[in-house]
Amino acid sequence: VEKPRAVLSARGLSKTFGGFHAVRNVDLDVHHARVHALIGPNGAGKTTVFNLLTKFLPSTAGTIRLEGTDITRSAPAKVARMGLVRSFQISATFPQMTLLENVRVALQRPNGQAVQFWRSLGSLRNLDRQALELLERVGLQDMRHRLASDLSYGRKRALEIATTLALDPRVLLLDEPLAGMGQEDVSVMAGLISEVAKDRAVLMVEHNLKVVSEICHDVTVLQRGEILTTGDYETVSNDPRVRAAYMGN
Ligand code: ADP
Repeated sequence: VEKPRAVLSARGLSKTFGGFHAVRNVDLDVHHARVHALIGPNGAGKTTVFNLLTKFLPSTAGTIRLEGTDITRSAPAKVARMGLVRSFQISATFPQMTLLENVRVALQRPNGQAVQFWRSLGSLRNLDRQALELLERVGLQDMRHRLASDLSYGRKRALEIATTLALDPRVLLLDEPLAGMGQEDVSVMAGLISEVAKDRAVLMVEHNLKVVSEICHDVTVLQRGEILTTGDYETVSNDPRVRAAYMGN
């Protein structure tokens, strides 16, 4: 069966710093309802690819399309409004607010727009219901009146997913979502990523290959800025070039 058109698609994406090719001629297709892992040794160019896709850095060459629209020259805020949202490793939550308040604030800024001050009482109640639903989705509903600063590291990351989901992204970019987590939090977060990918596309940079093998439908391996191979985990992990790339690290 042929895959449907990619939600996020890059062609010939390149970035040079001075004369150094950090990313060279990268083609990438990220699909709805699939988790796509971007892996590779340190310095392979994974972070740079994320920075190019989110328009945080301008590309040297190549095109990027989001749901068919060319966003190669679009500003980062516009790209976020169009539904390409990156969840940063350092949580953008407010420690002295409750979880419910954190998610409410995020909901009041749909796709990064200014807070709408004209909301009626009815829609405010609706906001509370939506905030609670999002906390339920990430398993934090019972802690909704606690301060964000009280949360464990793993739960802070789950809250960050909830505030990101408030923007209802079409494509969610996750930077090492499992980094620094203990085994228990790793399985909770892995389950959460699978769950949120049911109604959007997810692209993640991740070093935990066990979890990548368990939850990612597509895997792209970068090496020295170039794509070594793309495919399912089974195929990619059995590729001798991939094995060599990791051994060389
Ligand atoms: P990864 O995320 O896979 O570890 P990066 O994308 O961070 O790799 O880096 C890829 C390469 O580009 C590295 O060799 C890095 O030193 C280089 N690089 C990244 N950002 C810059 C920059 N702003 N200026 C110069 N070189 C950079």
